[in-house]
Amino acid sequence: MHTAPPRWVETTLEELPLRPELRGEQPYGAPQLDVPVQLNVNENPYPPSPRVVADIAAAVAAAAAGLNRYPDREFRALRADLAAYLGEDTGLALTADQLWAANGSNEVLQQVLQAFGGPGRTALGFAPHYPMYPEYSRNTLTGWAAGRRTADFGLDPGHVLETVAEQRPAVVFLTSPNNPTGTALPLELIEQVLAAAPGMVLVDEAYAEFRRDGVPSAVTLLPAHPRLIVSRTMSKAFALAGGRLGYLAANAAVVDALRIVRLPYHLSAVTQATARASLANRAELLGRVAELRAERDATVDWLRGLGLTAADSDANFVLFGTFPDRRAVWQGLLDRGVLIREAGPDGWLRVSIGTPAEMAAFRAALSAVLGRA
Ligand code: PMP
Repeated sequence: MHTAPPRWVETTLEELPLRPELRGEQPYGAPQLDVPVQLNVNENPYPPSPRVVADIAAAVAAAAAGLNRYPDREFRALRADLAAYLGEDTGLALTADQLWAANGSNEVLQQVLQAFGGPGRTALGFAPHYPMYPEYSRNTLTGWAAGRRTADFGLDPGHVLETVAEQRPAVVFLTSPNNPTGTALPLELIEQVLAAAPGMVLVDEAYAEFRRDGVPSAVTLLPAHPRLIVSRTMSKAFALAGGRLGYLAANAAVVDALRIVRLPYHLSAVTQATARASLANRAELLGRVAELRAERDATVDWLRGLGLTAADSDANFVLFGTFPDRRAVWQGLLDRGVLIREAGPDGWLRVSIGTPAEMAAFRAALSAVLGRA
């Protein structure tokens, strides 16, 4: 027997007893538009091969057979695999105790502020920075302060140390390579911040695998610095954005702090299986990184050849400009089927590095928009 569905009492966000600091806030996220060329969220443009898809599917099927049980809360096997991979990438031997993971590095970074931020404490970053840092701060009732990067998007040690001394931050976010600028940081600067900062220093290396030859990873600084955290993600070079797996390396005591605030069983058995099967196939999944780096360098050269400014990049994207009306350029590209990102200071745009065909489409569209076709 069917009864009429009940009538829902209408309400609006404004009428709900929302936390006051959330009033008027918009959910963060780039437009997800169905256009042919998507170069706006720094994904790896190459999907897994049928062989890797089969491996992931088999691992997920095996996990599915045990889905009546909660997953391994400590995901020890995955942490050991991550330690092995990061050791290979950086030359530093790491153990499972020194690794931690969550659903994307977004969740990892928010957990860091849940553990080390909080009321009465401040997190510090340097603009232009990844826009989620202030949001993790808001979500965890941590204050947020921002210093600034130099005109060429580096960090001036004098300014950084002065800001650290002024703010006494509980957590400093140093991003290397930085999003949205692509700029990597010298280890000397990270060491200076570690010496001066009273709290944790987090180096966000989401794009580390794309760094140019000779650019070091802050992972090598970990043994000497118990307050250092280095975060990474499988969303970018690893071509696993849809799998949602971010991680960090730090002293085992730092990992113990994060284990206090994590929700029980936060990494599903399906996620753990997907990440482990992907790590086992890392040679193939990371196989296009060299090509993407070459395509990035060619894109920087091409943009400069047009007479535009393009920031040096150690990531899989390029920040370029400047345009008196960047929105018009962004829209002109979108009208031609190419989605990029309005990111960075006013006048700048950011393009993620795609396949050669996607980059050709980007170049053709930008030439047309700028009247250079
Ligand atoms: N850090 C930086 C600098 C990023 O650019 C991103 C994603 N764009 C993240 C962290 C979070 O990525 P994810 O949650 O997919 O690991």
